[in-house]
Amino acid sequence: MEEVIDLLCKLISIPSVSGEEQKIAEFVSNYFKGEVGIEPKIDEMYNVIVEYDTGKTGPNLLLTAHLDTVQAGSGWTYDPYKPTMIDDRIYGLGASDSKGTIAPMMTSCKNCIKEAAKKLKGKLLVALTTQEENPVGEIDGLRYALRKGLKSDLALFGNGYIENYMPYLTIGHNGFIRYQIRVIGKGAHSSTPELGINAIEKAFGVIKAMKSVKLPKQMILGGEIKATMNVGVIRGGTQPNAVPTECTIIGDRRTLPMEKADKVIARYEKALEKAKEGDPELKYEAKFEKLHDSYLIPEDDEKVQKVKAIMRKILKAEPRMRHDLCYYDADYLAAAGIPTIMIGTSVIGTPHQPNEYNLVKNVISVEKVYTALIQGLLA
Ligand SMILES: [Zn+2]
Repeated sequence: MEEVIDLLCKLISIPSVSGEEQKIAEFVSNYFKGEVGIEPKIDEMYNVIVEYDTGKTGPNLLLTAHLDTVQAGSGWTYDPYKPTMIDDRIYGLGASDSKGTIAPMMTSCKNCIKEAAKKLKGKLLVALTTQEENPVGEIDGLRYALRKGLKSDLALFGNGYIENYMPYLTIGHNGFIRYQIRVIGKGAHSSTPELGINAIEKAFGVIKAMKSVKLPKQMILGGEIKATMNVGVIRGGTQPNAVPTECTIIGDRRTLPMEKADKVIARYEKALEKAKEGDPELKYEAKFEKLHDSYLIPEDDEKVQKVKAIMRKILKAEPRMRHDLCYYDADYLAAAGIPTIMIGTSVIGTPHQPNEYNLVKNVISVEKVYTALIQGLLA
């Protein structure tokens, strides 16, 4: 079995649900110590930070991915912590998100440092982080490491999709604003509804106002991407024979790279105020929270073009580029001034699902890509 596949199986067999990453952090750290000859730092959040300085002037390259997984959840027919190989598939929790990328990141570091160190210049950093899947408020491993001073000229971020054994070169993702609107009514007996204010009925007006805000479109990589707004939860009323006093609407608005979150929020606040002007009985409390900014590194950016050229050479095919509608953490890196490109082994449709899997060929392909990128970018 290839070392990278054996390593992926070992990573899967160490449970690392968000917030319980100590064991996997120690395993990864021991790998770098024993196999690569570098002693990583493990910080208070069990982030593993590896620093390899070639001693020669050159760029600073960061590889980063998250060590934690979601809870296994129900519906698994395989043991989520016992990697099961069937033909080309490896089943196990994290196989796709994102241990399937961490394993090739680790072995490619080993290959480059042990076998080609003389050819490298600059500095190689690896940050394997924690609590990505379940951050506690503002705290997750990556933001913690960035606050502690993690810096780089370019980050290769290990989340991203793969198809036909060819990782996408993902250059952007949409942002994420969560909203929660509590509509306040007035109670009454259902036989005399005119004495109350029906919070559920008033919520219709709120949804209409939210939907009235135009959703912009943006051309990215030759395709049109549209911003989205979804009503995900509506909760209100306690019994059929009473006028409900409260109704809460929760949902999200996904922002495009061209949008500024504060301006988007202001537009929704204005639409709600307008609805209130038209209906003096409407009372609400609205909360909008920007949880992720959108992110986009220009397609013609020199670093993107360099990564693309290296990938083209090693994959012997034109790399496919991508902008994702869901968010990653590239915006956190961008906020710290680090240009970021996403390359991973996520099999579309498998992350956060029972029987999560990856393909042996995907992992081997991404190992080649990361090895070529380390050598090419630190040349
Ligand atoms: Zn995930």
